[in-house]
Amino acid sequence: MKKRAIVAESLRPAEVARIGRIPGPLEGARFVTGAAMMSQLPVEGAREIAFAGRSNAGKSSAINALARRSALARTSRTPGRTREINFFALRSGAHVVDLPGYGYAAVSKAQKEAWQQLLWSYVTSRTTLIGLVLIVDARRGLAALDVELLSAFLPSARPVLILATKIDKLNAAQGRKAVADIHGAVDRAFGDAANGKSVIGFSAATSQGVTSADAVLARWLE
Ligand code: GDP
Repeated sequence: MKKRAIVAESLRPAEVARIGRIPGPLEGARFVTGAAMMSQLPVEGAREIAFAGRSNAGKSSAINALARRSALARTSRTPGRTREINFFALRSGAHVVDLPGYGYAAVSKAQKEAWQQLLWSYVTSRTTLIGLVLIVDARRGLAALDVELLSAFLPSARPVLILATKIDKLNAAQGRKAVADIHGAVDRAFGDAANGKSVIGFSAATSQGVTSADAVLARWLE
């Protein structure tokens, strides 16, 4: 199949032989740099896939699950700790961009607005951003700030992948409903502008959805 051939081309045969399968696009990711303000962002060059979501939604865990690493992106028991935009280089040369989690209640209003400003500026102005992965806790569904972020990004016609995380905490029927509800909410809010979205039930705990998410991201990077 064409897609497989393209993904496999960027791999050393020894790597495929070692792990016995074609690695996902985030496997082998390496930390490159962090930026606390727009002026510190690396020069636009590599294509970027950004990960965003409410604090504690499971963004770091999702990045780690996709990278098959336990601690590439730092998970934290203190929500709201990630304040920087972190850049990771993939084997393909593209970058994964871990955006600060938003919506954490226990920080000052000014601080919250400063982080959100950084996030919104990045998402609306970064020309090398090819797609956005939005992390949503499956039990909570889309939050107002998620919708705001989507409204900053979707009109650009670039694709969005929504990972409905912690799906292991729901039973199968509840999980399907959570995914359908997110689909419905995005369609209602954005209509045709939401055509480029995918929604996948995801769990960093059980790896549910990991290979489906790999396939979507590999397609973006083709
Ligand atoms: P972030 O703030 O969005 O980066 O969230 P983290 O990845 O740090 O996760 C927040 C909390 O949720 C941590 O206690 C994680 O262990 C937990 N968590 C994240 N993903 C999952 C998941 O898929 N299933 C379960 N059961 N817990 C998860």
